This record gives sequence, structure tokens and C-alpha cells, in this order.
Amino acid sequence: MNKIYNIAIIGGGPAGIMSAISASQNGASVILIEKNHKIGTKLLLTGGGRCNLTNIKACPKDYGKEGDFLIKSFSEFGALKTIEFFKKKGLKTKVEENGRVFPITDKAQDVVNVLMNCLKENKVEVLYNSRVAEFNIKNKKIASIILENGDRITAQNFIICTGGKSYDVTGSTGDGYAFAEKLGHKIKNPKPALVPIKIKEDWVKKLQGISLKNIQLSIFQNKKRKLKQAGEVIFTHFGISGPLIINISKDVGNLLEKGDVKIALDLNPDLTIEILDKKLQDYFLKNPNKIIKNCLLDFAPEKLSLEICNLASISQEKIANNITRQERQNLVKLLKDLEMTAVGLLDFNLAMVTSGGILLKEIDAKIMASKLIDNLYFAGEIIDLCGATGGFNLELCWSTGYLAGKSSAEKLI
Ligand SMILES: Cc1cc2nc3c(=O)[nH]c(=O)nc-3n(C[C@H](O)[C@H](O)[C@H](O)COP(=O)(O)OP(=O)(O)OC[C@H]3O[C@@H](n4cnc5c(N)ncnc54)[C@H](O)[C@@H]3O)c2cc1C
Repeated sequence: MNKIYNIAIIGGGPAGIMSAISASQNGASVILIEKNHKIGTKLLLTGGGRCNLTNIKACPKDYGKEGDFLIKSFSEFGALKTIEFFKKKGLKTKVEENGRVFPITDKAQDVVNVLMNCLKENKVEVLYNSRVAEFNIKNKKIASIILENGDRITAQNFIICTGGKSYDVTGSTGDGYAFAEKLGHKIKNPKPALVPIKIKEDWVKKLQGISLKNIQLSIFQNKKRKLKQAGEVIFTHFGISGPLIINISKDVGNLLEKGDVKIALDLNPDLTIEILDKKLQDYFLKNPNKIIKNCLLDFAPEKLSLEICNLASISQEKIANNITRQERQNLVKLLKDLEMTAVGLLDFNLAMVTSGGILLKEIDAKIMASKLIDNLYFAGEIIDLCGATGGFNLELCWSTGYLAGKSSAEKLI
């Protein structure tokens, strides 16, 4: 390939596509290189195929302690700009619970179609079935990249947008981490994030399929509470999942590196221990001949009530009248503090995102450029930042992609 491009972008996910659109809109000639036969493979899976493309409330502080890194990219292209971008291209959006934004058509394919049209309009060259294998460096600058088939691509600036390591069937196999390391960058250990949690106790696995809404969850290490959050938990054959679990998984993963982690569920967060005990006592008095497993149904689903009886070593058939004070207090304790042991997270192939990545201190947040290599930029999940579920991770891609594309094009002038 003899042509010299202004900008070569590696990875046709949301970050790479947005980088390409933004660079070309700023006057650059752009090539977007994707190893799959189509772009946006993971994007099509997002939001269960509906694509939760941003969150109306998204702001840098939603991305944890180092979220300030995103101040510049969000000020240039935040959630409102994302919504406006798609609207201008003919795709209206709607806002659902907790600020989650979806295309009005509920189809991720429509989001991909808008992006493909936009690449076409801006004359971005898209190279499919082309895996970047190597980088050629001369005088602290990338001179060219070599594809797996041996072809060489030459450009003035390069943007790496190869994503993380999760759902590797979509093409996100962590190639970018290896490239960046070879180029001298340090990588914070990539770990699965937004992923279900494996639990040790067998009774948890027996509850597979049960969903608990509006419960309070606490995480403990060395008997100290590390986190408290409310939401929905779903029991599975390996442990626990559901929106609340997915969002705390990164914290659990970090704590597991330091030692044992206990997770405690409060099934009745609106009732204090004393009020719950009184309620149970009154119920037993009013229903003296009712068997205990049926007495608990107001406080926990049936299958879980049975397990709570087992954990309290009370026969499920014992009648209320025969429950001792100590047994009642044990039941109250379990309903308020149902403890289990986290033993690990599920693997990358089931994680929605990868935490870790290119160290933020090695990237200039004002332009998304490498501080080590003169003509290198990064955008998207490859950088050491990720958000909760709810559209925050795609917003990170649109924002950083927009800024990387724009600033890499401006540098040519
Ligand atoms: C099931 C699922 C549902 C999700 N739902 C949502 C959601 O609703 N909302 C939300 O905000 N986030 C969601 N996410 C997260 C979101 O999809 C990712 O954060 C986002 O796709 C990351 O974009 P990216 O462009 O950085 O990387 P990716 O989307 O991973 O794209 C990277 C691209 O680079 C290509 N590539 C890799 N290596 C090379 C190479 N060597 N040469 C050439 N090309 C290469 C890959 O093939 C891939 O196409 C979801 C994730 C999953 C797995």
C-alpha cells in the first residue's frame, strides 16, 4: 500500500468508529482497520441488542477516583452531544429508567447503520478482515503498521482503539495492550469487570433463577464493611448475578486480590432488626399452627425461605407456636444479614468490560495522546477506566474517540 494516510485507526468498535468520524470531519484522510469482516461487532450485542448508547446523567465522576481524566473529553463530547449526533443523523433516542438512553427503534443495528453511513459520508476508508500485527518505530514515532498478511500501512498519526479482552469472540482479544507495551507503555493488569460473581456455598446455587429486587447488599473484608448498595440480585448455578452484582464486581475483584470477601444480603432493608423481630413475633402469635416455611413468605421468596430454615437448623414443618425465641432471632438475623463467600469472578468471556488498561498518567487527557510516542493516540475501553452498566461505557468510547480523532487531525495542521 503506497498511500500515506493522515490518520490510521486500529479497531472498528465504537471508539475507533467515532475517532474516524471526528478525524475525517476535521479534514484528515483516515483509514479504519478492523480484523473482523464487519465493524461494531460488540456494539450489536450491547443493551441486549437494543444498545444502551449513553446515559443522560453521565459525567466524569461516574468513572471512579480517576474519572477527572474525562473532564476534557466530556466537555467536548458528552452525553447530550452523543444524543444530538445520532439525532442529526436521523436516529432519535429515548430515555429510560436511571437515565439510560436507547435508540427509539430499540435496535443496536440502527446505531451501527448510522455510524457506517457517517463513515461513508466522510470518506473514511474501512479495511476489513485486516489484523494489525506490528508497529514500526523510527525516532520515537510510529512510521507504519504491518498487517498479518504482510501489508504495510503508513500514516502520520495512529489511534489504537482495540478495546479490552472481554467477549473475545467479538474481536476484543487484548491486542492493543501488547502493542502499547511494545511501544513502551505500562498496562494496569486487565481484569474482567461488570461480570457475575462465583459463590462458595452450595445453598446459593440451589436458588438458581430466584431474583430479589430492592435488597441491600454489603461487602465485608476482615469484618469491615467496604461497600453498601441497593438493587437487584439474581441467583445462578455458580453464584450471583443481576444489575447490582455486575456493578459491584470490579470492587469485589479488587478486594479478592487482598483476601477473603463476604457478601451479606439484607432482604428487608426497610425494617430494623427490632421491627422485623416484632413483626415475626406478632405473626407467630396470630398464626400459631402455621408451619414455619409458610410464615416466612412475607419476608423472602418460597425457595429462599426453605434455605433460611435449613441455615437456621429449624425443621421447615415446625409450627410457629413451637419456635423458640432463639430460633426466631436466628431467622431475623438471616433475613437481615444473609452471608455468603465470594470466591472469584466469572471469566473475560462473560464480562461486559475489562478493567485496567493503558495507564492514565501516560496519556495526555486534553488530547488523548500518548506521552511517550509522538504520533500515537488512544480511545475507548483500552484505557484504564470503565464505568457501571447503564450506557456509561459507550459514552466513554464516544467521548474519548471524538477527542482523539479531533486532536490527532488538528495536530496535522
Ligand atoms: C454483552 C455486552 C453488552 C454491553 N452492553 C453495553 C451497553 O448497553 N451500554 C454500554 O455503555 N456498554 C455496553 N457494553 C460495553 C461496550 O460494548 C464496550 O465498552 C465497548 O464496545 C468498547 O468499545 P471499544 O471501541 O473500546 O472496543 P470494542 O468494541 O471491543 O472494539 C474493538 C475493535 O477492535 C478490533 N481489533 C482488536 N484487535 C485488532 C487488531 N489487532 N487489528 C485490527 N482490529 C482489531 C476488534 O475486532 C473490535 O472490533 C457491553 C458489552 C458487552 C460485552
